[in-house]
Amino acid sequence: MTLTGHSLIAGQTVAGEGKTTFAFNPATNEQLEPAYTLLSEEQLKAATAAAAEAFQSFSTLDPGTHAAFLDAIADNIEAIGDDLIVRAGQETGLPAARLQGERARTTGQLRLFANVVRQGDFRGVRIDPALPDRAPLPRADIRQRQIPLGPVAVFGASNFPLAFSTAGGDTASALAAGCPVVFKAHNAHPGTSELVGQAIAKAVADLGLHPGVFSLIYGPGSSIGQALVADPAIKAVGFTGSQSAGIALMRTAAARPEPIPVYAEMSSLNPVFVFPGALKGDVDALAQQYVTAVTGSSGQLCTSPGLLFAPAGEAGDKLAAAVGRAVSACAGQTMLTAGIAGSWNSGTEALGAAENVTVVGTGTPGPTENAPAPAIYGTEIRDFISNEVLHAEIFGAASLVIRYSSAEELVEATNRIEGQLTASLQLTEEDYPTAARLIPALEQKVGRIIVNGWPTGVEVGHAMVHGGPFPATSDARTTSVGTLAINRFLRPVAYQNLPQELLPAPLQDANPWQLNRRIDGTVIAADAAQAEKEEVNA
Ligand code: NAP
Repeated sequence: MTLTGHSLIAGQTVAGEGKTTFAFNPATNEQLEPAYTLLSEEQLKAATAAAAEAFQSFSTLDPGTHAAFLDAIADNIEAIGDDLIVRAGQETGLPAARLQGERARTTGQLRLFANVVRQGDFRGVRIDPALPDRAPLPRADIRQRQIPLGPVAVFGASNFPLAFSTAGGDTASALAAGCPVVFKAHNAHPGTSELVGQAIAKAVADLGLHPGVFSLIYGPGSSIGQALVADPAIKAVGFTGSQSAGIALMRTAAARPEPIPVYAEMSSLNPVFVFPGALKGDVDALAQQYVTAVTGSSGQLCTSPGLLFAPAGEAGDKLAAAVGRAVSACAGQTMLTAGIAGSWNSGTEALGAAENVTVVGTGTPGPTENAPAPAIYGTEIRDFISNEVLHAEIFGAASLVIRYSSAEELVEATNRIEGQLTASLQLTEEDYPTAARLIPALEQKVGRIIVNGWPTGVEVGHAMVHGGPFPATSDARTTSVGTLAINRFLRPVAYQNLPQELLPAPLQDANPWQLNRRIDGTVIAADAAQAEKEEVNA
């Protein structure tokens, strides 16, 4: 596939009328060809208008074609082959193995959503049959299903150029819900975005869908991104990125004449709590696992552990010393952009200069200008509780070890921190009573609680929650990873007394899409209903 350097609006390549921009290789700071032309706000309207036009046919697509479309996107991404890995590597500095894993996750998640569409439970069919003889008042026939919200604006993050980008979780779940997508490319990986955008546009064309189902646009977030969210054709927003951009988009969405939901995944410190029992085992291994979680992908994961609570006393001292040794053996890796490396430097400088903060250990700088040495700091829990400077996210390979003396202190610290994506507990059976006191406090703060594991590596499945209270996300009722992410782009509609001929297919008595349904409060599986029907007919 050839890179054009232009936006892709409803299947057409469109040269932007604004300025141009280039991607940069963060390993060398070299400019990468081609130049990307940026859209004007006027040009943006073609994408949102096409998405609005595509909505009617796309939102009512039969499940077979709809699922085949998601599968085709996955196939087309794989068909790009190594060109995708090479370009993504040049634009992000991420190693090929990491990007290959991310590609597998991206295609796997598209195919998972294809199965969700085939299976159909997300349509949430509920039928309360009429009760004409009910006293004192009869009950009407009332049926409910979930329908898609409308065109969705999606913004990807720099740190997952595939899995949280053009065809990432937000796009996959919005398309699975039946919502056309206008994707605002991240300026750090425009070429990777274009390659994946072409794969999506090809699937749209091959399946004969309305071309407005997908557009990929280039432009600055602060102008084009804002105009996209303000556009009346857009009905919801999926975002992964920084807290400042997420909040700016939330404000714009709320200030519209018709406010719309913004599902923003933003910042998280992902605390790890080490209990005394865990320190009776292999302390070096525990320290190594923690340092690996902190430094993996140069710490540029939304789930990297930024805090580790360790007991005061000798066993905790041993853990801190082992952490210091483990991190000193780590070299810095190239960060995603010079800007992100700069923010890491100022964040660690502020943390290192804070009162009663010490250095537990540092690694060595990596081979490039944007590869700072990983650093782990230490403090006491009373200082952590009283100083909010220590609660700030540092995006990159940095973390803070906090020494505590009691379960009460852990609960107090938990109550003081902001919302998080995850909390991890390292423990053995003797620690269960202390953990049981902490867990209710954690439930109020996080989206996922992990025992004897690390927060990095988010499984894409049916039970996963990648969410949590603000500022981890803008809406703690949702997840951006896993099949439940589809619910963000749906809303319920009830149909009262509609004749069969006017009811949408999922709600008709004949159940042509073979959906599981909740009838008068009881879930009736589609296959059980079918078997009963066949028995009656026999
Ligand atoms: P970012 O700078 O916020 O960029 C994300 C997107 O928002 C880009 O498309 C950007 O446009 C756009 N944008 C920036 N400012 C905007 C504004 N004022 N109005 C509208 N749009 C705007 O984030 P990033 O640097 O890519 O990602 C790093 C951050 O993401 C880290 O803080 C990390 O913790 C967080 N993250 C969170 C998760 C999670 O699930 N919680 C996952 C991954 C990353 P441009 O292209 O013009 O910059």
